Amino acid sequence: MSEKRVYTFGNGQAEGNAQMRERLGGKGANLAEMNLIGIPVPPGFTIATDVCNEYYEVGQEKIVEILQAEVNAAVAHVENLMNSKFGSTENPLLVSVRSGARASMPGMMDTILNLGLNDEVAEGMVRKTGNPHFVYDSYRRFVQMYGDVVLGMKPVNKEDIDPFEAIIDEVKAIRGIELDKDLSVDELKDLVVRFKKAIKEQTGNDFPTDPMEQLWGAICAVFRSWMNERAILYRKMEGIPDEWGTAVSVMAMVFGNMGETSATGVCFSRDAATGENLFNGEYLVNAQGEDVVAGIRTPQQITVEGSRRWAALQGISEEERAAKYPSMEEAMPEIYKELDAIQTKLENHYRDMQDMEFTVQDGKLWFLQTRNGKRTGTAMVKIAMDLVREGLIDEKTALKRCEPQKLDELLHPVFDKDALKKAKVITQGLPASPGAACGQIVFHADDAQKWREDGHRVVMVRIETSPEDLAGMSAAEGILTARGGMTSHAAVVARGMGKCCVSGAGAINVNYKNKTVEIEGVVYKEGDYISLNGSTGQVYAGEIPTKAAELSGDFKALMDLCDKYTKLQVRTNADTPHDAQVARSFGAKGIGLTRTEHMFFEDQKIVAMREMILAGSVEGRKKALAKLLPYQKSDFKGILEAMDGCPVNIRLLDPPLHEFVPHDLKGQQKMADEMGVSVEEIQKRVESLAENNPMLGHRGCRLGITFPEITEMQTRAILGAACELKKEGKDPKPEIMVPLVGILYELKQQKEVILATAKEVFAEEGIEVEFEIGTMIETPRAALTANRIASEAEYFSFGTNDLTQMTFGYSRDDIASFLPVYLEKKILTVDPFQVLDQNGVGQLIKMAVEKGRSVRPDIRTGICGEHGGEPSSVKFCAKIGMDYASCSPFRVPIARLAAAQAAIMHTDK
Ligand code: PEP
Ligand code: MG
Repeated sequence: MSEKRVYTFGNGQAEGNAQMRERLGGKGANLAEMNLIGIPVPPGFTIATDVCNEYYEVGQEKIVEILQAEVNAAVAHVENLMNSKFGSTENPLLVSVRSGARASMPGMMDTILNLGLNDEVAEGMVRKTGNPHFVYDSYRRFVQMYGDVVLGMKPVNKEDIDPFEAIIDEVKAIRGIELDKDLSVDELKDLVVRFKKAIKEQTGNDFPTDPMEQLWGAICAVFRSWMNERAILYRKMEGIPDEWGTAVSVMAMVFGNMGETSATGVCFSRDAATGENLFNGEYLVNAQGEDVVAGIRTPQQITVEGSRRWAALQGISEEERAAKYPSMEEAMPEIYKELDAIQTKLENHYRDMQDMEFTVQDGKLWFLQTRNGKRTGTAMVKIAMDLVREGLIDEKTALKRCEPQKLDELLHPVFDKDALKKAKVITQGLPASPGAACGQIVFHADDAQKWREDGHRVVMVRIETSPEDLAGMSAAEGILTARGGMTSHAAVVARGMGKCCVSGAGAINVNYKNKTVEIEGVVYKEGDYISLNGSTGQVYAGEIPTKAAELSGDFKALMDLCDKYTKLQVRTNADTPHDAQVARSFGAKGIGLTRTEHMFFEDQKIVAMREMILAGSVEGRKKALAKLLPYQKSDFKGILEAMDGCPVNIRLLDPPLHEFVPHDLKGQQKMADEMGVSVEEIQKRVESLAENNPMLGHRGCRLGITFPEITEMQTRAILGAACELKKEGKDPKPEIMVPLVGILYELKQQKEVILATAKEVFAEEGIEVEFEIGTMIETPRAALTANRIASEAEYFSFGTNDLTQMTFGYSRDDIASFLPVYLEKKILTVDPFQVLDQNGVGQLIKMAVEKGRSVRPDIRTGICGEHGGEPSSVKFCAKIGMDYASCSPFRVPIARLAAAQAAIMHTDK
């Protein structure tokens, strides 16, 4: 690492800038940048992200030694600009210590405010400010945060509330007051003493009085918070590498709790839930940073418009709203104007929706943070398209900004409108994160996970969520909280996850101990069903059926943009006309894989199929195949019709036959009766089909080679259906694919059967249909000899499920037994059956494409394994110049966006 570890900022100057987020973290880089563009930011300094890694290598003592000189100089820099002194009893400087990784991880790591206070400094501050209430409120907050974050004072049991809050509640109960801000100076002083005592009792730690010792403790605690459970889980969910580390930003404190002319808040330049271009946010008068996001006091809105919308949702009259919950626009109009101007400036500067934190200290506005805001999939698409229309970004930037995986949320089901009309609204909260959720009530994160693992859909109900609940939120269908606004951790994190969330439903009374929630006199227990509408904030009793989402205009506009730039086409894997239709509506340009075997499982079809497999002779097999033919033909006709005019790639029978036969006596008896043989005969045949390694056994083209009559029947069905459609004036484009080829002659022989059958069918039908014959590349040998295979194949479709299985030698069905250990030990970083292994399997694919083209320059190449809908894998396919990717219908939009992004990256190079 480079020698410089600490970067200062303040007074319009900074050693860093927005481009340095890798080194300074998002927060540090943007604090520097805000200084450079003239936004009021308290002075401070940022310790670089790689120092976090160094901390884990050398430990606390050594890191303090390494940083000492630079941190001392940086503290002096802040003292100079603030005209005060850290630790002074005359003119003290207090600081905040904040985390900030390269990627934003809202609320996952720790922050400490008001650092630098001890009994003497506090008295000095009282003399200086003449405001003992403010000083002791700050002091008790500091002891609370430092006790929690640095000294490890946490709740002992999951049912317990925060130990500091428990002490505050005790004190408030004695006085009969409800709000923290109504505590008297003496009570606040008393809290400081009680807190320190409780920390000593529970953790054995003395509270440090030396400000420098406090500072080092806080810096190292922030480094440690990089490795706390919730941060690790969040990184896993978001794919953020552990190696990045967090930066630490230390800033001069500005105080939102100095009285009625002070405030603190969080705001967004656009609506993070819907994408609407509406400045919005929340603030609290006489409060400090964490109060707004922690969900303890329900905050007020920043704009009049936002405030009116909020009041309407809460059922509060305009008079009551204006009197009790005025917006900042009404209560602090001058500050509001400045805030609005700065938020516009920041959005224009970063050309993206900003999520900002600010504090008003005694009538002066300070910005503490800005970052590109987390948003839902819907908001992501709308904001990107709006910014293009507003001329702030170009089309390519809009495409690059959208995360393919997040499109999934736009395809999530919504409540069935008719069912919704009949459902009973039991309460109303804030529409914190849109979508429909329905499930059984649970109250704790670990229960949510457990119930989910047992196959239940759950809704997590909490008084408020804290970042500790992350795993539970992830396991739940939706989240309902009693407290917390639109910017609470619950809301921000839920939106980031695309999870439905209703927050601040003040009428619900949660009892963690009894595992109940009481709403308007009715008690709901753990396990009872409720439904949430995260788009309106409404909560319903019971289960409400859902239906597929309708796609918005912006979504379509984004997809059209994809088509404008993409080179790689997207097809779909579909086995039914319905799936083909859905995929077509999502923009699939054809079918990349129809697995014919999936059609065999319905009633009469399975009987004929079993008869075919269990037949002891070619004649018997042919008889059964003749029964199957009409079923297959009508299935293929439906699919070809749904995809009329687009290519439909149908694969010949692939799985081991053993998968289809009856293993139970009842089923075996039924087949014996059907076929007029004894049940023993059937059992013998079933046994003879059993294999030790079915995945490497009698499957794929080996079936067609040993039983050519199967290939014959399937060819008849495909081409017969196509001929019928052509006669009806349609435009069928069938492709016939031979699976699991490893040797050229396998393909050659199957091709002969297909061509001979085609000739017969066309003669019988008196009409011809154009079709192609191709193969799957899914064995390493096929990839290695792709030039030979291409001499017979008109196209290659890479079956990366099998190719991954055979390249790694990991069974597709058994990988779960060791994958978690491999991931934990970092032997693998991802599941190779989900994300294409570009270094290994990818090289085989690249080589096979090149070898194929060397013999047949126009050979069409595509991918149809699970990887065909995974963004990084799709980008790889685009990079090596493949023609198409094929994936399940609901992943088609994801693959389209990934393909367009790959094309842009390629041309921008
Ligand atoms: C594959 O192997 O990638 C493939 C698409 O075929 P299946 O998953 O049906 O084996
Ligand atoms: Mg396969």
